[in-house]
Amino acid sequence: MPQPSTPLPCPCGALSPRRTPLAYADCCGRYVEHFDATPAPDAERLMRSRYSAFVRERGDYLLATWHASQRPATLAFEPGAHWLGLEVRSHRVLDADHAEVEFVARYRVAGRAVRLHEKSRFVRETGRWYYVDGDSR
Ligand SMILES: [Zn+2]
Repeated sequence: MPQPSTPLPCPCGALSPRRTPLAYADCCGRYVEHFDATPAPDAERLMRSRYSAFVRERGDYLLATWHASQRPATLAFEPGAHWLGLEVRSHRVLDADHAEVEFVARYRVAGRAVRLHEKSRFVRETGRWYYVDGDSR
């Protein structure tokens, strides 16, 4: 059991410069918990924070960071999904307001292992990055 003082590691698996797990509060939590004040500064960090929001079932954040042109009306989380980790394969900056992030996310549900491999498109509008859509690989 972790000590009560042990900070919760960030679900996205990011490491500090000392190669220790970053705490959620120091990583994606900065954006997920403070969406209005602190938008994710680039597409990769938005992608990571959206993964963490999936793990923590934060539909409010997922919808708020979905571009209005593609945003679903509601969001349902797969019951019993156990997220295993995120691997960011590439972060391609196309221009100041467009970027692509390729990632692999893994989870297990009902004894079945699921691997999501997607190249996602992001756009920046009025200083905020949004997820637009993605191609499954
Ligand atoms: Zn994180």
